[in-house]
Amino acid sequence: MGYRVTLIPGDGIGPEVTTAARTVAAATGVAIDWDVVEAGEVAIQRSGTPLPDDVLASIRKNELALKGPITTPIGSGFRSVNVALRQQLDLYASVRPARAIAGEGTRFPETDLIVVREATEGLYAGVEHWVDRDHSAAETINIITRKASDRIVKFAFELAKREHRRRVTAVHKANIMKTTGGLFQTAFREMSAKYPDIPSDERLIDNMCMQLAKKPEEYDVIVTTNLFGDILSDLCAGLAGGLGVAPGALYGEGLAVFEPVHGSAPKYAGQDRADPVAEILCVEMLLRHVGETEAANRIFRAVWETIAEKKVVTYDLALPGYTTRPVPPSACSAMAAEIARKVPLVDLDAPLPKGAAAAGGGGDPALEA
Ligand code: NAD
Repeated sequence: MGYRVTLIPGDGIGPEVTTAARTVAAATGVAIDWDVVEAGEVAIQRSGTPLPDDVLASIRKNELALKGPITTPIGSGFRSVNVALRQQLDLYASVRPARAIAGEGTRFPETDLIVVREATEGLYAGVEHWVDRDHSAAETINIITRKASDRIVKFAFELAKREHRRRVTAVHKANIMKTTGGLFQTAFREMSAKYPDIPSDERLIDNMCMQLAKKPEEYDVIVTTNLFGDILSDLCAGLAGGLGVAPGALYGEGLAVFEPVHGSAPKYAGQDRADPVAEILCVEMLLRHVGETEAANRIFRAVWETIAEKKVVTYDLALPGYTTRPVPPSACSAMAAEIARKVPLVDLDAPLPKGAAAAGGGGDPALEA
């Protein structure tokens, strides 16, 4: 019997990129039995709620999920399904590797870092209200607890230790938000003392953005609170080649949900145009997490070779690269088929490209170049 994995296709480009990811997963030969459930706009139409109980029940039962992006209406409408999932399943650690692949789509080909983001509290705790009847003032409460801060910084140091990373950098704004930022900073400093072999330092969020835009190659594991992590992981995705190639994972006690950094990109929905790589690399992370290291390596290498060859790539990677000319863009499904074709053919004995172990879920240190 294979792995039973919950699959949430999601909204917008979600069904296209999750279908692409399934195609590539099948090419590895690892048996996966997909338990498909619906959340988001499609679930509202069918069952009147964006997060039906069977979604949570399926993830609790299978303990593994692959998720497409889910739309969140802006300003009004239902609350974020993504935030609700993280809170209800206590998926506290969001891990988003930003790896430049084959120098395409990036001005920073040396980028190889991981953003570890606390995913259940902070300004995303959902505690907000109008201050007066005229709606002329509003408040959102920033909830930071010692328990959540301790466990996310511990997660970051453990990840750095397991994957032989160079450094852990905490990002906060403790100079202005002295209580909430200060609490997170204290938790980080006390935890770093327990990991004397792992170099650590701190940056204020504003300075961190400037540093990343100038020299991302100097950073490795970044640990931060919810809102800062959300923003930084998009920034780092941009540095590493764009949202189309940025995977992610959410970990809780005994649960792991894999989802790309990108959203549902509604303007590309149904056009077979979106880049499937982020969702495909989510499968790589999933397989690495369950110990299917060879299959994970095959996917990573097939993605790398497809992007490096630059013959069958989607529009975002067809642009002029760091070293290459523009090419005609291919469809999402064509790029997935090309990656799937390569999966069984790749030479695993050849030196692996940098970043192959940056999965945040138990990568194989032997793979690091
Ligand atoms: P987005 O990530 O969906 O898209 C922003 C832009 O990035 C797109 O217009 C496109 O140019 C590019 N892009 C994104 N994914 C791509 C892909 N796979 N291939 C090629 N280009 C890609 O962000 P948005 O437009 O701000 O958000 C759209 C919706 O997605 C919103 O409702 C938002 O709340 C939701 N969202 C969901 C998640 C999630 O489910 N985890 C994450 C972020 C945003």
